[in-house]
Amino acid sequence: MRLFIGLELPADMRRELDGLSKLLRERSCGGRFVPQENFHLTLQFLGETDDLAGAVSAMREACRGIRPFRLGLGRYGYFEKTASGNHRVSLVTVTGDTGELGVLRETLASALADNGFPRDRSRFMPHITLGRNVEHDELVAEELKGFPLSSSMTVTGITLFESSRINGRLTYSPLHREKF
Ligand code: ATP
Ligand code: MG
Repeated sequence: MRLFIGLELPADMRRELDGLSKLLRERSCGGRFVPQENFHLTLQFLGETDDLAGAVSAMREACRGIRPFRLGLGRYGYFEKTASGNHRVSLVTVTGDTGELGVLRETLASALADNGFPRDRSRFMPHITLGRNVEHDELVAEELKGFPLSSSMTVTGITLFESSRINGRLTYSPLHREKF
């Protein structure tokens, strides 16, 4: 199965992100948009694996020294090209205790490596993806960057997701939740 570990976002935060996503849809052409229920923040992509026990054990180890921390929404932005081969990812940045988030990602990367998963050496750029291959000009980017985002959350744990297509629809199913 195709697995990844990340943060679930509260409904009010997903609703606010959807407001920005609607404006993005209106102002751009083409692209694939992430539906509201799928908004998330990826910490580690595991890819194709059946080692559920290893992933859960790594999550448990990684969360041992972590305490709940706060994250908020930053603003609209995009990556032109990502390591995973996507051309232009439209996204929202995060604010708040991003230092703690970085520590969590590092601890998790080490715990996964200890449990036999390949070491992910890519630079961590925390973000929430709104869409892929969405085209717009610089003026629109400026307008989108001005869209007010104010919701925040307390991060109290991490989630192991299975990414699959159910009736043709990309679905992220939570398989395990590990609390701090
Ligand atoms: P799609 O692949 O249809 O565009 P998706 O990228 O949301 O949709 P997955 O490819 O299953 O679905 O990815 C699940 C999560 O893992 C997403 O947050 C995605 O950005 C991230 N991800 C996928 N591939 C990689 C990769 N090679 N490196 C880092 N993160 C990845
Ligand atoms: Mg993908």
